[in-house]
Amino acid sequence: MSDCLFCKIVQGLIPCDKVYEDEKVLAFKDIVPKAPVHVLVIPKTHMASLAEVTDFDTMGHIIRVIKTISNELGLKDGFRVVVNTGRDGGQTVGHLHFHLLGGRAMGWPPG
Ligand code: 5GP
Ligand code: ZN
Repeated sequence: MSDCLFCKIVQGLIPCDKVYEDEKVLAFKDIVPKAPVHVLVIPKTHMASLAEVTDFDTMGHIIRVIKTISNELGLKDGFRVVVNTGRDGGQTVGHLHFHLLGGRAMGWPPG
C-alpha cells in the first residue's frame, strides 16, 4: 500500500526505533508511548485491521513474537496487548498493529 504509514516503515522509507524483525514481522517503539514500554508489532504484509485478517498463521507468529519481546524487555510482572480495530475500536492507523504495553499497572475497563 503506497500511502500506508506502516508499510512505509516496513519499506524503510520512514525511520523507526526497531525492537525486532524477521521475514514476516516488524516491531518498533510507538512514537507517542502510552506506557514505559510501548511497542507496535505489525505484519510486514499490509492488512487493514484485525477485521480483515485471513492469514491466521501470521497471527499465531505475531503472538509468539510478542511473548519473546515481552521476555526480552523484562515484563515479568505482566503486560497488555491491544488491537484497536475500526472506528469504535479507536484505530487511527490503517495497517494492523498489536500494541504491547508494559512497565506499569494498567487500568480496566478501557475508556
Ligand atoms: P492506533 O490508534 O491505530 O491503535 O495506534 C496507532 C499508533 O501508532 C499510535 O499509538 C501512534 O502513537 C503510533 N504512531 C503513529 N504514527 C507513528 C509513526 O510514524 N511512528 C511510530 N513509531 N508510531 C506511530
Ligand atoms: Zn500498510
